[in-house]
Amino acid sequence: MHTTLAPEFHGDTDAQAAQHLIGACVHCGFCTATCPTFQELGNENDSPRGRIDLIRQMLEGQPPTRQTQAHLDRCLTCRACETTCPSGVQYGQLVTHGRRLVDARVPRPAAERAQRWALKEGLTSPLFGPALKLGRALRPLLPPALKHHVPPAGPGGDAHRWPTREHPRKVLLLMGCVQPALAPNINSATARVLDAAGIQVVVSDEAGCCGALREHLSDAEGARADARRNVEAWWPYVVQEQVEAIVSNASGCGTQIADWPHLLHSEPEYAERARRIAALAVDVSHFLPDIVAAFKPATDGPVVAWHPPCSLQHGQRTRGVVEAALAQLGAEVRVPLESHLCCGSAGTYSVLQPELSERLRTRKLGHLQTLTPQVILSANVGCIQHLQAGTQLPVMHWVEWVDAAVDTHGSENQTGEPRITTARHTPTVAP
Ligand code: SF4
Ligand code: SF4
Repeated sequence: MHTTLAPEFHGDTDAQAAQHLIGACVHCGFCTATCPTFQELGNENDSPRGRIDLIRQMLEGQPPTRQTQAHLDRCLTCRACETTCPSGVQYGQLVTHGRRLVDARVPRPAAERAQRWALKEGLTSPLFGPALKLGRALRPLLPPALKHHVPPAGPGGDAHRWPTREHPRKVLLLMGCVQPALAPNINSATARVLDAAGIQVVVSDEAGCCGALREHLSDAEGARADARRNVEAWWPYVVQEQVEAIVSNASGCGTQIADWPHLLHSEPEYAERARRIAALAVDVSHFLPDIVAAFKPATDGPVVAWHPPCSLQHGQRTRGVVEAALAQLGAEVRVPLESHLCCGSAGTYSVLQPELSERLRTRKLGHLQTLTPQVILSANVGCIQHLQAGTQLPVMHWVEWVDAAVDTHGSENQTGEPRITTARHTPTVAP
């Protein structure tokens, strides 16, 4: 689709990028068949093709409105449309540019601005953990509307032990911003399972949020700052300790790291390092062949329902890998109808678009529960917490299930604390 930029957009890098990305779209509409918001609302403007057209109209000079903003806000950024698109339209990048351009022209009401600020600063703050602890302690006393926003501890529970063995094979683990407080067992289970497979997990205590939260809330500079901080924190492990990979166990974070080269491409001090780090970044499922080789299959053959997060199946294009490995590890794996559709979690979407988010969760849980599983497994803390809030069935990360279903021999540390590599390195710039 050709777009003629209105004069006000000449020289605007977001507009130029959007114009280029729109160029690949042929307006065929195949993507509408797999778009969750179009499936729920039936409105062309809540479909990928419709949103692309709204962005194009703005670039050609039609002023965006609150309605334009609402249609872009309702997009989950699940990227199911990218998987479906025969023309290879990079819709995820396009909608990010489009949102920035609309938000710069359409002011949000004060309450909305305050809510978005509280989400991006609050969830990434070191105070999030203590606040969640307090909220959980007071949860029985909270009114239902507030209780809904304070998730109880998941079936994985506390962090439990962290392995202390050293191995020649080493990987860096991204701990995440909300995950250590919301579901601490996911990180320690990852360390135990990889340890049992002969891979040592190290952690940089200077790393933090990957930037996905800020990026999705149109805070491009905040997302770049998050990416830069992590590049500085991880670079010494890449050049001096030569970790073989940078592992993420929240597929949404892994998808964001893959985007860092794009985010930092115009910053000479960071561009090359971001590219090298993105090339090393993998989802923990990358190590499933090692894990399958290290464990005996579980003997009781539980029935598990697999919910693939959008960030894993559409963002990282990893499909079928976890299901096959879980079956090799002894589970009877069942995949629901419409497994390509988002569950409605989508980062902060469940807070910002509660009604649509709940509709999508009900639809997803309907399909999952029909499979009569003993447990629902997924690969992203956001999906896990969101689904758990709507069902009595246990919902957990697949790595927690592997950790619980098999014996991870040799994990000696009983303190529950991650073994953090404390050495400080002086970051160096890529040659
Ligand atoms: S499927 Fe791709 S080319 Fe077709 S309308 Fe959707 S985004 Fe455009
Ligand atoms: S990212 Fe998801 S919700 Fe947004 S337009 Fe594409 S399919 Fe629809």
